[in-house]
Amino acid sequence: MSTTIHDTIILGSGCSGLTAAIYAARANLKPLVLEGHEPGGQLSITTLVENFPGWPDGIQGPQLIENMKQQAARFGTEFRMDHLVSVDVSKRPFMLNLGKETLHARTLIIASGASARWLGLPSEQALIGYGVSSCATCDGFFFSGKEMAVIGGGDSAMEEAIFLTRFGSKVTIIHHRDHFRASKIMLERAMANPKIRILTNTEVEEVLGVEEKDVKGLKLRNVVTQEISVLPVSAMFLGIGHVPNAKMFAGQIDLDQDGYVLTHDQVFTRVPGLYACGDVQDRRYRQAITAAGSGCMAALEVEKFLEEHGR
Ligand code: NAP
Repeated sequence: MSTTIHDTIILGSGCSGLTAAIYAARANLKPLVLEGHEPGGQLSITTLVENFPGWPDGIQGPQLIENMKQQAARFGTEFRMDHLVSVDVSKRPFMLNLGKETLHARTLIIASGASARWLGLPSEQALIGYGVSSCATCDGFFFSGKEMAVIGGGDSAMEEAIFLTRFGSKVTIIHHRDHFRASKIMLERAMANPKIRILTNTEVEEVLGVEEKDVKGLKLRNVVTQEISVLPVSAMFLGIGHVPNAKMFAGQIDLDQDGYVLTHDQVFTRVPGLYACGDVQDRRYRQAITAAGSGCMAALEVEKFLEEHGR
């Protein structure tokens, strides 16, 4: 067991975690970042990011993350490829069990993000970044004038589809049931849009184009008639929800019904010294820039907390 007590440990190495690390490192807190299961977070599986301020020509998501990592490292951030097995935040210092080792921290920043939910098809996984995306805001622009599909029957799917009609010639919403979780208003908006059509009782069996490394269409199955069809599209956007990565905190801090960390005053949890930032606590904005902003806030609160409670 390590006897070192870290001033702060940051869980997650996406946009919010790395921004928290930059601020904490510049405050001389020598943060330790546990990179987690998906190092770099959702940006690391995006292509061109055109809406992060400061990059007039856009920047590739993985490059943006690498830049942030270098910036955090330059001021003394330590990175480890580990992830949490369990955690005890009932007393300070907090105890983090990594399986082979236990770490101690005076403060903890949860920046473990949310992972997009995927269908889980091998063809889908092979084409992420090549026409398969979980972020219409990030990638819709690349399919101007093309036909696209959105999967899901909730508000996210409706919102993504409506957004994509700005670019696409036609957008097909594919939903596996004939009942929608989407709010009435969002569903009506989608149905009233002349560029959108909705296929219900339909599942995606395969994304076509793996050999070409470019989405060519979707093989679909009607779950009632079992009929197979092919829908030619250039892109498939997933709108089937996100899964926040906060399970290990269940019972120790407040989570909402979907597992997002409930924060007050932006980044505070109900445990003193424990903060949450980025997509693990944000189901509304989910943007790189908002995640970065809340990462900054969490680090500033850590600094204040350590000033008040001692290091
Ligand atoms: P959601 O409401 O949970 O909807 C997810 C949809 O994806 C459901 O229709 C679900 O089908 C479907 N789905 C889940 N797993 C699937 C799978 N493996 N294969 C095929 N379909 C699958 O999630 P969300 O749309 O992301 O919304 C989350 C929350 O954010 C909601 O509270 C929503 O109101 C809110 N939100 C609001 C707005 C807005 O107001 N502008 C925009 C976005 C999100 P089933 O119905 O069969 O479960």
